[in-house]
Amino acid sequence: MKQANKESSVSFPNESVHRSDRGETGRILYRCNWTKTGPLDGYEIAELEDARRLLYERNLIGIYPDGIGFGNLSRRSGPGDNFIISGTQTGGLKQLSGEHYSCVTSFDFAGNALSCTGPAAASSEALSHAALYVCSAAVMAVVHVHHDALWAKLQNSAPTTDLSAPPGTPEMALEIERLFRETNLPQCGLLVMGGHKPGLMTFGSTVGQAAQVVLDALGGAC
Ligand SMILES: [Zn+2]
Repeated sequence: MKQANKESSVSFPNESVHRSDRGETGRILYRCNWTKTGPLDGYEIAELEDARRLLYERNLIGIYPDGIGFGNLSRRSGPGDNFIISGTQTGGLKQLSGEHYSCVTSFDFAGNALSCTGPAAASSEALSHAALYVCSAAVMAVVHVHHDALWAKLQNSAPTTDLSAPPGTPEMALEIERLFRETNLPQCGLLVMGGHKPGLMTFGSTVGQAAQVVLDALGGAC
């Protein structure tokens, strides 16, 4: 799979914080080279927040009783495959601000590493978002949600990643790339994360469109 920036795993700014992220399951997923900065501007996240509100209202993004947040979203921003994504463990917050987002500036699937700047570290699912941006320049925004009934309904009828690929890993990124190449995923805009029940991902030319794919699926259109 193509790498967005091969030097990402060897070139770190002095102020970077080297940390391992923990995903929704609590497992360490990828090496996150996080350069902490001030908050993002409101205009940078407005479109994301408009879509996120709709998803949060339907509990597609939210928090489980054990305190683990789920769901995240992103949009392209800046050069190459850079993108802005909601920060790790923000799923439980009704509304996010510029303090809760992160800019992914490079990633390395083979090295299981990702670099980001911003006030928050990137979501644990950021490598999966990156995989979709690499697949096509037409992918402008990505949404990741959880929904038990939709997952059960669409598993193996919609493009579905292999059960053996855990969330947030290079294996999941490779699976997403395979689905984009071998199935109708480019047209459908929705995939089921087989090894990350009840996770689904959608994408579109805007954040609103990516969110609408999920909402349409909930309404039985997919
Ligand atoms: Zn998830």
